Amino acid sequence: MQDYSFYSAILGLSSTWRILNITVDERSGDIELHIRSRKGSRFSCTTCGALKLPSGSSKARWLHENHLNIRFYISALIPLITCDRCGDTHAEIPWKQAAFLCEDQGLDDSQGEDRSAPLQLF
Ligand SMILES: [Zn+2]
Repeated sequence: MQDYSFYSAILGLSSTWRILNITVDERSGDIELHIRSRKGSRFSCTTCGALKLPSGSSKARWLHENHLNIRFYISALIPLITCDRCGDTHAEIPWKQAAFLCEDQGLDDSQGEDRSAPLQLF
């Protein structure tokens, strides 16, 4: 049994999340953390806070901050919450602040809103 508590602590994972395994790409040295939610965990609707069991999940991949030229990727199944009042939302993820979504392989909720703001220096 591997102990991934070090990584859990870095990412601020709560007890509803677990690291399934960690893989290393031998050529690039990239590290990939595979994260899943624990079975039976409830997640709150991001709009109204109602606690729900996931009604599904979608897969996504993030690039975590670049440390020492090692790329940390996070692959996870993000629980989908179906709220009676607010509809479908994705569960809040703990590593959102520190990582960039690089691949959203999940359900297609394309809003076509790619507003990359021009770089402002002042
Ligand atoms: Zn709701």
